[in-house]
Amino acid sequence: MPEEKREFVCINCPRGCEIATVLDGKSIVSLSGNVCKLGVKYVEDEIADPRRVVTSTVRVRGGNMPLAPVWTEHAIPKGMILRLADELRKVEIDAPVKCGDIVMTDVFGTGVNVLASGEVAVK
Ligand code: SF4
Repeated sequence: MPEEKREFVCINCPRGCEIATVLDGKSIVSLSGNVCKLGVKYVEDEIADPRRVVTSTVRVRGGNMPLAPVWTEHAIPKGMILRLADELRKVEIDAPVKCGDIVMTDVFGTGVNVLASGEVAVK
């Protein structure tokens, strides 16, 4: 497989290092621009199995606000994000909602739950 240049922006901290790499398939040939070694791990994970924490909202029945903020408690594979967004559009939960309430369990068999990240009181 021919070597390929690829740029990444590390999202592990607000510094957002721009990391230039040369890749041979899923192997890193060279890497520069990272301030710390977390940038190397970030690139390795992006190549092998890119994941993201997903934030969204779900509808609330009987609440003082129509929507509750939610998030995945851990990162899920990037390829599942749109599917999860579709599923969350169908979800409606009852007020009151407390921070940390489980809104969806075991997203697509990943073992990751979707949790409420804010409160919604009863209307
Ligand atoms: S490489 Fe290190 S310093 Fe740079 S964004 Fe990633 S975690 Fe932050």
